[in-house]
Amino acid sequence: MIINRKKTRQIYVGNVAVGGTAPITIQSMTNTDTRDISATVRQIKRLEKRGCEIIRVAIPDNESARAIKEIKRRISIPLIADIHFDYKLALESIKNGADCIRINPGNIKNKEKIKEIIKISKDYNTSIRIGVNSGSLDYKIREKFKNNIDDGIVFSAIEYIKFFEDNDFFNIKVSLKSTDILTTISAYEKFSQKSEYPLHIGITEAGTEFSGTIKSAIGIGYLLIKGIGDTLRVSLTANPEKEIDTAKEILKSLNLRRLGPILISCPTCARREIDVIKITKKIEKELKNIKSPIKIAIMGCEVNGPGEARDADIGIAGSITGGIIFKEGRVLKRIEQSDKLIKEFIIEIKKLDEKYWRDKKNEV
Ligand code: SF4
Repeated sequence: MIINRKKTRQIYVGNVAVGGTAPITIQSMTNTDTRDISATVRQIKRLEKRGCEIIRVAIPDNESARAIKEIKRRISIPLIADIHFDYKLALESIKNGADCIRINPGNIKNKEKIKEIIKISKDYNTSIRIGVNSGSLDYKIREKFKNNIDDGIVFSAIEYIKFFEDNDFFNIKVSLKSTDILTTISAYEKFSQKSEYPLHIGITEAGTEFSGTIKSAIGIGYLLIKGIGDTLRVSLTANPEKEIDTAKEILKSLNLRRLGPILISCPTCARREIDVIKITKKIEKELKNIKSPIKIAIMGCEVNGPGEARDADIGIAGSITGGIIFKEGRVLKRIEQSDKLIKEFIIEIKKLDEKYWRDKKNEV
């Protein structure tokens, strides 16, 4: 099955394209104090190394807005300033080099102030994310759509966008979030039937690493399968690096991005001949440093093992005589001792990774 992405316009956040045929990008948000420039830069660099492509920072005050200048000087991925309530913080963030600002229709409503934001965004060629959130919907909209809040979210976005369009501003992407997965899905589906603005998708305040990962995989996964979504953020109450890992796994699972290895491992059962859990844990740790999209299978026995291991670029299948390593569809070696099996397997994975990058270099 191939996912057909819904057609959207393309905009730019800094030098990163969002929408149209651009790859679906991964975002995250810092949880440092933005005024603490060093700590914020350190976190952004860690996130970037992990795979973050666009970073958002909260701008609760003027000092944070001014900090953008120095933060931007020290990082290489585009930065979005997250603004609520005070339109002056949007102006200050743009002046200090934010590549995009996120504003919320629920809390910046004054038309004259929005006009000022539009003007300066045009002057600095800054894109704007209109981020509607069910929790901060205007109370009149909330009242009007109290039985179908998804429609309220869409209404709020369309009404707000109209004002930007009336003022000749189209450099927009949109998010329509709710903590409720079904409300979120419905809002995005309805909106994408009415509009071609690129969409930032996610399940807001999804929860802890465990529950938030599941909710995000369901909500974001569903939307992506339906072809909706141009950039995404997994929102977790955890180290933001986990957000990147989860986002990458979602995109890889749907074949939407090639972002490092794909690991297949069996759940184990009474037939297992090797310690799949131990091996998988060790391999998963090693894979953190591998960036090529190789497919790796770790299977406990010879029922499905050889088939899966053969289909992967590299795989292990347990057998009565120990483990068999398969590489590119053929048996490479049989190893009896568990630690040696893991060691050999890692060496072979690294060789495949090196080969991938060598081939890639030769293509150029
Ligand atoms: S591959 Fe073998 S050990 Fe693993 S779950 Fe299947 S039958 Fe069980």
